[in-house]
Amino acid sequence: MLARTDLRGSTPTLAELRRALPRGGTDVNAVLDVVTPVVHQVAERGARAALDYGARFDGIAPGSVRVPADVIAKAAADLDDSVGEALRESILRARKVHADQRRATTRTDVVDGGTVSEKWIPVRRVGLYVPGGNAVYPSSVIMNVVPAQEAGVGSLVVASPPQKDFGGWPHPTILAACALLGVDEVWAVGGAQGVALLTYGGVDTTGEVLDPVDLITGPGNIYVTAAKRLCRGVVGIDSEAGPTEIAILADSSADAGIVASDMISQAEHDVLAASVLVTDSVELADAVDAALEVQVAATKHRERVTTALSGKQSGIVLVDDLDAGIAVVDAYAAEHLEIQTRDAAAVADRITNAGAIFVGPYAPVSLGDYCAGSNHVLPTSGSARFASGLSVQTFLKGVHVIDYDEAALREVAAKVVTLADAEDLPGHGDAVKQRFAPTGVITEVR
Ligand code: NAD
Repeated sequence: MLARTDLRGSTPTLAELRRALPRGGTDVNAVLDVVTPVVHQVAERGARAALDYGARFDGIAPGSVRVPADVIAKAAADLDDSVGEALRESILRARKVHADQRRATTRTDVVDGGTVSEKWIPVRRVGLYVPGGNAVYPSSVIMNVVPAQEAGVGSLVVASPPQKDFGGWPHPTILAACALLGVDEVWAVGGAQGVALLTYGGVDTTGEVLDPVDLITGPGNIYVTAAKRLCRGVVGIDSEAGPTEIAILADSSADAGIVASDMISQAEHDVLAASVLVTDSVELADAVDAALEVQVAATKHRERVTTALSGKQSGIVLVDDLDAGIAVVDAYAAEHLEIQTRDAAAVADRITNAGAIFVGPYAPVSLGDYCAGSNHVLPTSGSARFASGLSVQTFLKGVHVIDYDEAALREVAAKVVTLADAEDLPGHGDAVKQRFAPTGVITEVR
């Protein structure tokens, strides 16, 4: 039976609510001692250090960091037909959605002769981290690569841990997914050393230059996250991803079997994964507990699932009514939020904090993981209160272009001077006055 938090009959403040809700998380600081020397060594010694750490942590070092083209081509050729077909469908749908996210330059005529435009420039080169410690995630290749490509990023490299069973190269399905997406630069390097090598670059064992990137995106375990934290600043990062999580807001109309299976599908990721049900129906809560008992016993990764569901991060939150339930899921700000209520679309409209919202019984998180078209790299640990998932926007920089002619500057010059004086920065005002004093003598601006 899942642990229960009973909020019925109470009106907690937001701070109390946040404390009361089931939440786990990982302490990234706890691995900084391990990760800091890795980052420093790779910054200093480059590819050689990265390969040495791969040998230590992954049990194998490939012949080079860069995966040779023939290895990628072979993985693509050997790809199972049905997996290939499913990956193509996933790519097609993701492209459709992410293409619509492209941003056009905006131009605002502030006054006659004075315009401000905002143009969106893709990041020059990005490193896309695809995890590969405990599982294979070709879907994460798609979710990273597609928005980067749709943003117009010209240079991208996928990094993924070397695999003992595949001669030290990343898993063939990852390589095949790269081939399907037209990515030909793949590095066999993972963990903290992978993040550090993407950040600092180096020279491969083959003598080829491994160019540093400007931005690193993609999920990973605690070592990857710690390295992202350490390298942030030298390189941009998307986020510090924590363990994955689902919250399900459900009322008595929900199907307990569906709710239970969606909680299991999230718990299957990781022993630290969180599955939280928020409901105003004790009958549903009891029925979900009963369904879980049956389904967990039959699921493949039942040990992992059982640990995740019995952890302090998972459970059932009982509330008085739907309004209270909405307040709870907004305070929790789940990475994935399912709405399994009557009139689910109207309820979804009222949600303000979630990484992605899945509406009704036919939009499970698994659909979003693979084939909805939406992105599955989403903000975790409550960061959906202020952050978004991966999108085309992640890979773009907005640059203001300011274009004023003489008359337009003259019109507002006195106000610039006033504000500069108010901030005790008279040089700022002088820079404006100088433009209206052809003799070089700074005069009053009228
Ligand atoms: P990973 O690639 O993130 O990490 C594997 C690397 O960790 C190894 O290459 C190794 O270098 C390093 N490592 C392992 N043990 C170490 C140790 N003791 N000291 C130093 N380094 C060590 O793969 P993973 O471990 O399978 O983790 C993947 C994570 O990404 C999971 O938490 C999963 O839930 C998450 N994920 C999230 C999404 C998403 O979209 N949010 C998608 C896929 C995966």
